[in-house]
Amino acid sequence: MSKQGIRSVVAMDHAHVWHPFTQMRDWLGSRPIVLVSGKGSVLRDANGKEYLDANSSIWTNLHGHRHPRLDMAVRRQLAKVAHVSALGFANVPASRLASRLSREAGLPKVFFSDDGSTAMETALKLAHEFTRRTRRARARTRFVSMEGAYHGDTVGAVSLGHIDLFHRAYGGLLFPTDSVMSPYCYRCPFNRARPDAADARSYRKCNWECVGRFESVVTKASRHGKAHAAFVYEPVVQGAAGMIMQPDGWLQRVADIARGHGLLLVADEVMTGFGRTGGDGLFAGNNQDVVPDLLAVAKGLSGGYLPLAATLASQPIFDAFTGEYGEFKTFFHGHSYTANPLGCAVALESMKLLSSKASIRQRDLLASWMQRDLPRLWRHDAVGDIRVEGTLGAVELVRNRATRQPFHLAERVGARVCDAMARRGVLTRPVGNVVVLMPPYCTTAGQWGRIIEAIDDAMEELSPA
Ligand SMILES: *Cc1c(COP(=O)(O)O)cnc(C)c1O
Repeated sequence: MSKQGIRSVVAMDHAHVWHPFTQMRDWLGSRPIVLVSGKGSVLRDANGKEYLDANSSIWTNLHGHRHPRLDMAVRRQLAKVAHVSALGFANVPASRLASRLSREAGLPKVFFSDDGSTAMETALKLAHEFTRRTRRARARTRFVSMEGAYHGDTVGAVSLGHIDLFHRAYGGLLFPTDSVMSPYCYRCPFNRARPDAADARSYRKCNWECVGRFESVVTKASRHGKAHAAFVYEPVVQGAAGMIMQPDGWLQRVADIARGHGLLLVADEVMTGFGRTGGDGLFAGNNQDVVPDLLAVAKGLSGGYLPLAATLASQPIFDAFTGEYGEFKTFFHGHSYTANPLGCAVALESMKLLSSKASIRQRDLLASWMQRDLPRLWRHDAVGDIRVEGTLGAVELVRNRATRQPFHLAERVGARVCDAMARRGVLTRPVGNVVVLMPPYCTTAGQWGRIIEAIDDAMEELSPA
């Protein structure tokens, strides 16, 4: 693009575009990167400068940008029709995708929507109504979710979340939910080791105190006649909470307790789905042998191409909504673009790619490079913890490694490291003090090498020795 063309785009952006989760005063004072094209793990800006997409365009992309087979899937569908309504009509890609999703997840019914937040709203309403109909919940149904949880930005999804900053902002709008302790081993208040860590023996032994806390919250509620309707959780990795990775065995333990008390399991795999956390299956929870009652997927569902989401449901939940027309048991919920054929077509192709030998090998390789190379960052004093799960890497930055004292969020330490990485041609965003690395599965060994070099150099810049 010409210099003048770029200036004009920036002027229009600055005049009119309000960016998400962005302090717009800072934004207006800075020159934005204008992204114009991409190929594989590479994104190119209007000046022709290339960057590696080290967070898969905010956790959405799987196979890289402009993948020939995904592009073709969109084109093929576009030659037929871009959108038709799911209100009263079936369409081909949606039917095929629903069948495939259902088989992968082990849940028979698929309700389509547009993004992670709407998939979670759907799950929330289904769980609420199912509980009301089948268990005659006297008071309002109550949900329990995890400390630091993030399930999206719509009012229901924010209510399920436990991020103080957002709750403070929307306090009056939200409905109350309970929270349970996250198995955040790095900040374990009982000072236990990760039970599955190699060096676990050098710490006090883990007795699953966090699971005990979970049980007491759930038991207490049911004893006081306020039994929870559902437990809402991100299996294996809690993303926006800071890439908190659960130790092996945690999920089965809490799922057993929740089921034992009659709670529905509502899994949010918006971030963890589609192979991101490794393992044989495409869903993190299923890989731990925990099949939920409701499962929300979005982000990677379309391979990062189009906004598309789905909520999968068990047969008993579906059955609670069937009856004579006049009983009005219908699920009164839906969106204009529900089951959009373009989105479904590309999602179906993405799922086919995911099960190919080549893609499985790519994921295994990328995961092994992450395991091998991230420990190199321990040489920086500000590194408190390094976490890897599948093709998901996280580096938690701290003021003091010995005491684990965090940086104050206002210092924007995570953001400063990411800014320094961007200058070196690597794009990612932190969650608070945690720098996230989750490049597309197609990332090559050389590209991964540049990502690790960029974060290493950026850390150097943060704290010159
Ligand atoms: C991103 C995310 C959401 C929200 O998805 P949107 O598509 O941004 O609405 C919900 N849950 C989890 C775990 C997420 O990572």
